[in-house]
Amino acid sequence: MLIDVHAHLDNELFSKNINELIEECKKNNVKEIINNGLNLESNKNTLELSKNFDLIKASFGLYPLEAEKINSSNFNKLKSHIIENSENIIAIGEIGLDGKYSKDLKLQEKYFTELLKLAKEINKPIIVHSRQAELKVLELLKINKMEKVVMHSFTGNKKIAKEIINNNWFFSIPPCIINSKHFQFLVEITPIENLLTETDSPYQYTNHEPNKPFFVKYSIEMISKIKNSNEKNISQKVFDNYKNVFIN
Ligand SMILES: [Zn+2]
Repeated sequence: MLIDVHAHLDNELFSKNINELIEECKKNNVKEIINNGLNLESNKNTLELSKNFDLIKASFGLYPLEAEKINSSNFNKLKSHIIENSENIIAIGEIGLDGKYSKDLKLQEKYFTELLKLAKEINKPIIVHSRQAELKVLELLKINKMEKVVMHSFTGNKKIAKEIINNNWFFSIPPCIINSKHFQFLVEITPIENLLTETDSPYQYTNHEPNKPFFVKYSIEMISKIKNSNEKNISQKVFDNYKNVFIN
């Protein structure tokens, strides 16, 4: 049983063959895929996908670089849409900060903080993007006393990773771990109880091919090697973690 906690299947790359893709995921034993919305339109498309396919669960968010483009009236619309659909979503994400491509990090912080508060109000876990802004993200998560947190494709240093583990938060591990010393090390230092799997499909291309949710099998393969356990056992543990964070 495989889990992808971070995908963007509403991306236009999948629009023509979404039915085939979902069938392929089922054949490959994928049990759940969390589709992460990036803005209001993408949140609406995410909801549609979750209604059409049992396999897909909805998470509504505001991508950090989208937060730089939004005005406060459109932000309020996005927020109301989340509140109206709180029964239909299992998380808030993708949200966070992006230092790499940021033009206005303060603006990103403002909306990220508002969404952290909203997640607490409606009692949802969060799926967090923290590229080149890991320390600031950690600070905001701590200030806002967040409980259920999944750090997506985390590329921060060991010190910050340890703090995330000490808070009993989660890392979702992408298929590129196969070739990434960084993710291999992250898995080494993280207890299995704090690991999940993700793809970020269709982003983070593998061999020039769009990423697909069932490629989490590569994450499981590598985690099993590092944790010296079999793949069945590891995928069961990751599934249990998934239930603990998103379902219970
Ligand atoms: Zn993403």
